[in-house]
Amino acid sequence: KKEKNPIVGIKSQIKNYAKMKEDEIAQLKQMEQYRKEFLANISHELKTPIFATQGFILTLLDGAVDDKSVRDRFLKKAAKSLNALNILVEDLLTVSKIEAGEINMEFEEFDLQIMIVDVLEQIEQKAEKKNITVSLEAPSDDPIYINADYNRLKQVVINLVVNGIKYNHKNGWVKVILDVHEDTVTIAVKDNGMGIPHEDQNRIFERFYRVEKSRTKKQGGSGLGLAICKHILERHDAVIQLESVPEEGSTFSFDLTLVKEEEYEDSEL
Ligand code: ADP
Repeated sequence: KKEKNPIVGIKSQIKNYAKMKEDEIAQLKQMEQYRKEFLANISHELKTPIFATQGFILTLLDGAVDDKSVRDRFLKKAAKSLNALNILVEDLLTVSKIEAGEINMEFEEFDLQIMIVDVLEQIEQKAEKKNITVSLEAPSDDPIYINADYNRLKQVVINLVVNGIKYNHKNGWVKVILDVHEDTVTIAVKDNGMGIPHEDQNRIFERFYRVEKSRTKKQGGSGLGLAICKHILERHDAVIQLESVPEEGSTFSFDLTLVKEEEYEDSEL
């Protein structure tokens, strides 16, 4: 039998090791690239409301302050941009904390229907402003028990419904549709708005990614909402799905595990 040449073995080991290091370096470079992009994006997004506020104040100083109605208009605009800045900073903190694993979910059992009604009440005014109908479609009024973080899951549904309103035309609709299966419930948020171009569909869950149209239309928002939704749902073992046809509308959906009624009642005892 032919003996294995030990040198060949060592050579191939070295080769493998070098390849491993190369992969590691490539990965580190990629991470560094992401970090740079993240910082560049943050600076850009922060500058927008800061420059806007600065502009309004300079206009006031320039004489607009003397006319009461003009003054009020500019002060309101300045307050609005500061509010946008505040939301952006809060979203940034949420994203970085959640990505660093520093946010703990507080799981509890509750009826999903109650939570959705809560959501609809909260966004009513926003929807009315654009004359958009927001409705709930559920198989029945029966409770649908799940085990989740109430406030964070509510935030997910609010983000999705608000997007359905924001990226919609006047008089459009947004539906929250609940589908109950054997062990799971599917929550879908469907709108008949502007839809999302095919090439953007994979990327809109990335931090700061916005479809060009929404950027140029200056829709309020940080571009962080869907990234936050995705992370919160991951912590609920759920994956967010998107189906969208440009000019027709979009559906965002995810599945959660049901808590069976007997189990729920037991836990209440
Ligand atoms: P934001 O709304 O603050 O820009 P999001 O992360 O919530 O950030 O959304 C990212 C982008 O995805 C939006 O800028 C928009 O271009 C697109 N988008 C999200 N939801 C919808 C929707 N329902 N219809 C059309 N486009 C949407």
